[in-house]
Amino acid sequence: MSILTIENLSKSYGRIQALKNVSFSVPEGSVFGILGPNGSGKTTMLGTIMDILKPTSGSYRLFDELPTHLHRQRIGTLLETPNFYHYLSGVKNLEIAAEIKQHGKEDIPRVLEMVDLTRRKDSKFSTYSLGMKQRLAIASCLLGNPKVLVFDEPTNGLDPVGIAEIRDLMKELYREGKTIIMASHLLDEVEKVCTHVGILKMGDLLAAGKVDGEILVTGCMDFEFIGGSLGSVMGERIARAGTARRSPRWPGRCGRRRRPRWSSRCRP
Ligand code: ATP
Repeated sequence: MSILTIENLSKSYGRIQALKNVSFSVPEGSVFGILGPNGSGKTTMLGTIMDILKPTSGSYRLFDELPTHLHRQRIGTLLETPNFYHYLSGVKNLEIAAEIKQHGKEDIPRVLEMVDLTRRKDSKFSTYSLGMKQRLAIASCLLGNPKVLVFDEPTNGLDPVGIAEIRDLMKELYREGKTIIMASHLLDEVEKVCTHVGILKMGDLLAAGKVDGEILVTGCMDFEFIGGSLGSVMGERIARAGTARRSPRWPGRCGRRRRPRWSSRCRP
């Protein structure tokens, strides 16, 4: 079964085209990364499928059906940092979240255990580290045991330890059989956590499919501004795969070229 099928989805904000005719599908049981730099349309994509934003054109299906609020109720979402009460404990905040979502409180011990916050459940939210706050937010998504989870940049702003914790949690949720759709601007995150990827650049889908070296090389070679972790990881990956003639100016020089020329020059 396809959890999400997107067909020719476009979204404009006035003259800004945030999504341009994007189509892909998310298989059940996958961890699907929507990968792209800032402003590529990741949040717009997630906001659209969760009915926060209306598409300009195109359509999508959830669970192979026309989407309704009942389908969305089966999806746990973390699209922005939730507003927890700083002066209340983690468990009390989850009780409030459970009430708002009309779930029973009986699920709270399970979700606290999943995100490894049982020992700190009675501590005030204000005393939590950033990583713990993010894990509490994920615990809130897990209330009611949804089969599908949607996360927008779940490791944003975390230190390396917090990032590792969240990535381990993703892998555990995947092993449990959840389908996860997550936005990320980090190539290495997608490589480490995701089974599938859709690569966006300025609203265009450059590539989509199973995560393997080829799709990441194909999809990411259009990034003219590869830098930071994305650039270094791409450099390492391509060098490892022996698919690039190393150039001291790589990737800037390659990235500025049109795709066919880049392909013939940098791939075997
Ligand atoms: P980031 O990683 O920075 O969150 P993103 O990949 O999630 O970026 P979006 O936030 O979806 O990208 O933005 C896509 C484009 O749409 C950008 O050019 C952005 O400036 C524009 N945009 C997003 N929201 C609005 C809005 N409410 N009004 C006008 N333009 C918007």
